[in-house]
Amino acid sequence: MPLSPASTEWQTRVIDSLRSARPTLWAGRSDAEHSSQVIDAAQVQQAVERFERFAPLLARLFPELQVAGGRIESALQPVPQMQRSLQLPEQMGRLWLKADHSLPVAGSIKARGGVHEVLEYAERIALQHGLLADGDYRKLASDAARAVFARYQVAVGSTGNLGLSIGVMASALGFKAVVHMSADAKDWKKQRLRARGVQVVEHAGDYAQAVAAGRALADQDPHCHFVDDEHSLSLLLGYAAAAPYLAAQLARNRLVVDESHPLFVYLPCGVGGAPGGVALGLQQAFGPHAHCFFAEPVQSPCFMVEMLSGAAALPGLGAHPSVYDLGLDNRTEADGLAVPQASQLAADVVRGFLGGVFTVEDETLFRHLALLQGSEGLQIEPSAAAGFGGPHALLDSAAGQDYLKRQKLQAHMANATHIVWTTGGLFVPDEEYARFLARGRDLLR
Ligand SMILES: *Cc1c(COP(=O)(O)O)cnc(C)c1O
Repeated sequence: MPLSPASTEWQTRVIDSLRSARPTLWAGRSDAEHSSQVIDAAQVQQAVERFERFAPLLARLFPELQVAGGRIESALQPVPQMQRSLQLPEQMGRLWLKADHSLPVAGSIKARGGVHEVLEYAERIALQHGLLADGDYRKLASDAARAVFARYQVAVGSTGNLGLSIGVMASALGFKAVVHMSADAKDWKKQRLRARGVQVVEHAGDYAQAVAAGRALADQDPHCHFVDDEHSLSLLLGYAAAAPYLAAQLARNRLVVDESHPLFVYLPCGVGGAPGGVALGLQQAFGPHAHCFFAEPVQSPCFMVEMLSGAAALPGLGAHPSVYDLGLDNRTEADGLAVPQASQLAADVVRGFLGGVFTVEDETLFRHLALLQGSEGLQIEPSAAAGFGGPHALLDSAAGQDYLKRQKLQAHMANATHIVWTTGGLFVPDEEYARFLARGRDLLR
């Protein structure tokens, strides 16, 4: 008799595998579950409309957005060579890639959530000060508007891409922008921010301490908005706003999503806000026919741990465990994904419909980074490669096969669309990328 994914024996197997840092798939959607009630479609629609209202202003502030009319978006492209390189048979569907590694302004998926949160804050202040009386958002680039924004500060704690996105967007509007970083954050990221007039505060100790220090400073100042990666609804809605545009891209490519044409989406996961937001948007667009799987490093499976928390097989770990509680060290080269504890907001949002979570070894990230460069000529960062392990994690494991069976998908796999979401890479310096690539090629030999 097959084990139910909710059974203690099944959970014990998953947790043993996680503890020993082996690549693991946990598949969700047990029968009792249902769709998300936490956030409704109107809230996502408001984020979509906010991006639309700001598009004329963004086109003015960022010359690279002019061709797209101020829209911050990425391509959806087929990657048949990569599909061959991964030895993914066509009877299992076709492989596509959502190219957020090339997103303008921030160079990563953080351009969605981070920009949205800064725009929402800017809109609130602009309305308070009567700057939008005629509804012309381009006026927010005027000296008068910038003088108002200059009295306010936007702060964030981040070792990397979130800091880049918030810092660049906030300073472009004229806000004072402060990014709290841990001392070990990459130099090029600090330099890039400082070149844009962003204040970079370096903290001894790790990421969690940088965030806590930044939040404490911001809390004392009513003219300061602190972007809270672990709890922010605005970030999550900014990510969710990707879904309607992706739905239009799928339609333009005549890719049907329904009961007999399943959509699988593989998303790199840190705290879970980015993949959680996207998954929410896709659930609202396609209901149960969108199957989202989150990808985490084997040493940082915080989202999977959060999904398993409360499991009978995890006694004594409490309600909101971290990867340290499982004896893992949270050390990975995928710096965007090195997070010990998940966002509870993201977890609550996706718990009812998430397809699953899988873990990937760092070496696999580098191999896939190099395979993508060799097959399709695309440059991504290690974190952004995490999704490429998804199709095989699903197709080659007992847990994955069980999921396909429970969801009645086995007969429809030839019609499946698999989208790997490549989440960052545009601004990685050439020398650094060359090192990533060399490491991946070495592993492929
Ligand atoms: C931040 C980030 C993610 C994950 O986003 P979370 O909201 O932390 O889950 C994935 N990939 C890259 C490149 C990132 O920078």
